[in-house]
Amino acid sequence: MPLTGLEIYKLLPRTNCKECGYPTCLAFAMKLAAKQAELKECPYVTEEAKAKLEAASAPPIRLVTLSAEGGQIEIGNETVLFRHEKTFYHRPGLLWHLRDSEGAEELKRKASLADAYRADYVGISLGLDGFAIEAASGDPATFAAAVSAVRSVSKKPLILMAPSAPEVAKAGLQAAAGTRPLLYAADSGNWEAMAAVAKEAKVPLAVRSDTLEGLAELTQSIVKAGVEDLVLDPGVSGPSDSLARLTALRRLALRSAFRPLGYPVITFPGRKDPAAETLLAAEHIAKYAGLIVLEAFEPASLYPLMVLRQNLYTDPQKPIQVQPGLYEINSPDAKAPLMVTTNFSITYFAISNEVEGSGWPAWLVVCDAEGMSVLTAWAAGKFDAERITKAVKNSGVKDKIDHQRVIIPGAVAILSGELEEELQGWQIMVGPREAVDIASYLKAMWTN
Ligand code: SF4
Repeated sequence: MPLTGLEIYKLLPRTNCKECGYPTCLAFAMKLAAKQAELKECPYVTEEAKAKLEAASAPPIRLVTLSAEGGQIEIGNETVLFRHEKTFYHRPGLLWHLRDSEGAEELKRKASLADAYRADYVGISLGLDGFAIEAASGDPATFAAAVSAVRSVSKKPLILMAPSAPEVAKAGLQAAAGTRPLLYAADSGNWEAMAAVAKEAKVPLAVRSDTLEGLAELTQSIVKAGVEDLVLDPGVSGPSDSLARLTALRRLALRSAFRPLGYPVITFPGRKDPAAETLLAAEHIAKYAGLIVLEAFEPASLYPLMVLRQNLYTDPQKPIQVQPGLYEINSPDAKAPLMVTTNFSITYFAISNEVEGSGWPAWLVVCDAEGMSVLTAWAAGKFDAERITKAVKNSGVKDKIDHQRVIIPGAVAILSGELEEELQGWQIMVGPREAVDIASYLKAMWTN
């Protein structure tokens, strides 16, 4: 919980010496509270006060990073319970659960398959984030071989699941050298040994307990032992239990500033039925997992999870946009139709997908409408005759076509008169209101 200006003031020397550049300690405290000044500007703050002030300014949910050569997963550092309050920042990582007992060759086959999987969603390339490798064999050499096998075909971040014995965990960590995996997991029986291994390897550690009280006790002990990057596994089971306990965790961290539970969460929604797993994983994406370990790798299940995650973990105040400019669809020539639209990504992809699917070659000028859809942009004055004219002229399309006809969205037919004045000599054609009708419109209306 951030401190108020008065609370900060009580921790300052209160001598009003002005060396910080502010006339009084109170003025400096107010600036600190507003995050417009830095504590180091006062040379007289005691170590005790410094510790208190730094602890108070730490994020309520610690940011934890897993990394490897091919990328990183950042989790935690969330500040709100509900996305509409502000935004969710760090989208949960989706990882596939593999076991060393499957053998190196099978692990390579599975990991390379999943590593290569990509899905396009409104121009954003989505994929699996990493792998959780379990030391099911309990054997250090087998575990190390499994980790090496996965690393030989994928550079994605890893979770090393080796709670059985510290030597197994160490073998896995050695095989993952050069990366920063999450070590899973410390519990009430093994936490000292696992904390020692995590501390030596400088990696984050998962902490597992079936009760929130148990988790809080463990995290406090492990932090004292020198490991600060922790991930909580409350061992949630079904939808109702997940909702209750993951919400309680988030509330305690944010609303009560309860530091022992101020860490991101890992879940295992695994079910025998992949559809049931997908449903529970979807719930965990919404509330409030940081890492989700999946039993099944099915593109048909993964895709909706990735899309759901993408939609929840974007700033609701900033629409997803595409780059304004000229786009070619189906290799257009000089006689191909020219269309205009806005740079709201869903609008752009709805149109480009329809045109591409129809087989029509076409030019598409995308106007900068601050990421708004056609009607919203028009109502906000961001998609008017002046902007369309400027976009068409700046796109350079005039040099690529041998006609002067442009199709505007049917929803803004009202702009056609003004456009005829702005784009002198051009024929303004009013297209359909819906993207799905573009192919039939072109067939009926476009003649060379
Ligand atoms: Fe107060 Fe420190 Fe600023 Fe001096 S330097 S006025 S003690 S806050």
